[in-house]
Amino acid sequence: MVNRTIELLNRETIDQIAAGEVVERPASVVKELVENAIDAGAGAITVEIREGGRRLIRVTDNGCGIPADQVRKAFLRHATSKIRKAEDLTAVTSLGFRGEALSSIASVAQVECITKTTEELTGTRYVIEGGEESLLEEVGAPDGTTFLVRNLFYNTPVREKFLRTPATEGSYVRGFVENLALSHPKISFTCIQEGRTGLVTDGSGDIRSVVYQIYGRDTAKNLIPFHAEEPGIRVTGFLGTSITAKGNRAGELFFVNGRPVKDDTLSKAAEEGYHGYLMQHRYPFLILNLDIDGTLVDVNVHPTKKEVRFSDREKLFRMLCLAIQNTLLSGEHIPDAAPGKEEKPSEIKKETPVLERKPVSVPEPFETARRSGMQQLQKYDSVKAAAYPEIPAEDHKEAVREKPAEYSVSQQSLLEHVPVLSEQARRMHRLIGQVFDTYWLMEYEDSLYIVDQHAAHEKVLYEKMMRQYREKTITSQMLFPAVVVEPGTAGAAILRSRLLVFESLGYEIEEFGGDAFKITAIPANLYRIDPRELFTDILDQMKETGDIPAESIAERLASMSCKAAVKGNTALSFAEADALFDELLGLENPYHCPHGRPTIIRMSRADLDRKFKRIL
Ligand code: ADP
Ligand code: MG
Repeated sequence: MVNRTIELLNRETIDQIAAGEVVERPASVVKELVENAIDAGAGAITVEIREGGRRLIRVTDNGCGIPADQVRKAFLRHATSKIRKAEDLTAVTSLGFRGEALSSIASVAQVECITKTTEELTGTRYVIEGGEESLLEEVGAPDGTTFLVRNLFYNTPVREKFLRTPATEGSYVRGFVENLALSHPKISFTCIQEGRTGLVTDGSGDIRSVVYQIYGRDTAKNLIPFHAEEPGIRVTGFLGTSITAKGNRAGELFFVNGRPVKDDTLSKAAEEGYHGYLMQHRYPFLILNLDIDGTLVDVNVHPTKKEVRFSDREKLFRMLCLAIQNTLLSGEHIPDAAPGKEEKPSEIKKETPVLERKPVSVPEPFETARRSGMQQLQKYDSVKAAAYPEIPAEDHKEAVREKPAEYSVSQQSLLEHVPVLSEQARRMHRLIGQVFDTYWLMEYEDSLYIVDQHAAHEKVLYEKMMRQYREKTITSQMLFPAVVVEPGTAGAAILRSRLLVFESLGYEIEEFGGDAFKITAIPANLYRIDPRELFTDILDQMKETGDIPAESIAERLASMSCKAAVKGNTALSFAEADALFDELLGLENPYHCPHGRPTIIRMSRADLDRKFKRIL
């Protein structure tokens, strides 16, 4: 029998249904609680998890706190202090505003909240389990709020089964805190996982120091400041030089009005902007904070998904792509010949007595979040000192020396450095000679540079041909005898439609009956290459990708100039090498060959000194 009596669902059921949307896993609880802490104006936030967050999630902040008479209300569904009516939605600047996080979390876990505002003399302790309030009392507490969320999904066993291993859930939480630390560099974040402090940021406001904490020295040292602005949109952040490239999109970090966002338009704009700087299948590392006028973007698309709607995607794409291209030109993209082991300060830390906390109790947990940035750093130092016995002596010294404070100093000296591949620096180069008939060694400032003559020459030829193409000054080389090609019906059709493009590239081509063509001249740059092979290659590519723009045809052709470039294993004279360097300097992006391989690498004097144990 179907029951036809209509009843309103009770509050617990409604909350559990809502929780299904908001609370997917420990990381989503952390997200909601940390966003609340940020909205509360916290300067320091500590996240602690046990068993990947399933057993315990603690979020402590030093924000504004919740007034005693509001605590109960905060846990009601659609209770929020952030908006009052629908019109507020377009202007909303806070991270959360739906007013359903606390009620949802409380419906699927055992939640304890200890909070105190500055104005009040005492704080409040509130305990609510599975949506049932079990305690509301006055307690002594420091300013700010601590949420303890225990036994997530204890009353919804089906949901609990969907959780992955504690390690995986923990890594989601960690990734989430990392993202927030990057988008909020003025807030000091501490992340404690299974009793270990995994991440501490100093809250100094410098994104580079956060990058250092998360990604390590090599990444933090190779960042170019980024700024672009148009009416309604302001983008700031850092572009990693090509040295920091990654094997996937995990290093493309976008924040739209403070929220982490994964978005195809943004990713494509970034990758297009890096064109020519990265090898195939490599993705840029970059952090971009987009401040977009609330009327041009809709962040209210989904409560948990990292999606946004932009009103003018094309404009955004063009703006980003161009600004990235221009900014990259100002960077030096030279990989280290002897890269140190990529050391992430946060990974050096092992379990240490310094950070061992007693079982979570109040008000003790408040301590961590209430430390100032300075104290955080001191703590960070003592962590490393304590970790000493567990890591090799050399690594340890390295770790201790490379602390964020010193890192900013070296960043400064980087600013005064005249890029090695510049006219200005050219006079100070000391060309030492060739090794293995392939590489040229050169001393400049405090580094030894090594240039790959083939890659460098390739790049010179490539840019020369592209320039000639744009200036319509490509010269041709006559072919005797002429070469006849038969590219098939499809190939012939493409060729006929693109004949003018090929001519502008220096080809002279005549119809030769049926689907055959006679090539009587080729671009002069490419005279060393078998003309038939080259021509068929490029036609094949066009068949695969369909009709491609003239500029891309030119680019493909130019990139084949590598076949004409001086090879490795060829003796070059000093004069020839000098001439090659001169040409390299004049290029827009001299650091990569057309296929994205580096043309030049560096070994610093300090690296050498370290290898010879002159310094440790
Ligand atoms: P929302 O964040 O969408 O307003 P929540 O359920 O997350 O809804 O929180 C409800 C209310 O509780 C918030 O609007 C805020 O007033 C209060 N609140 C929650 N967490 C904190 C905190 N850490 N510090 C101060 N106030 C808080
Ligand atoms: Mg919220």
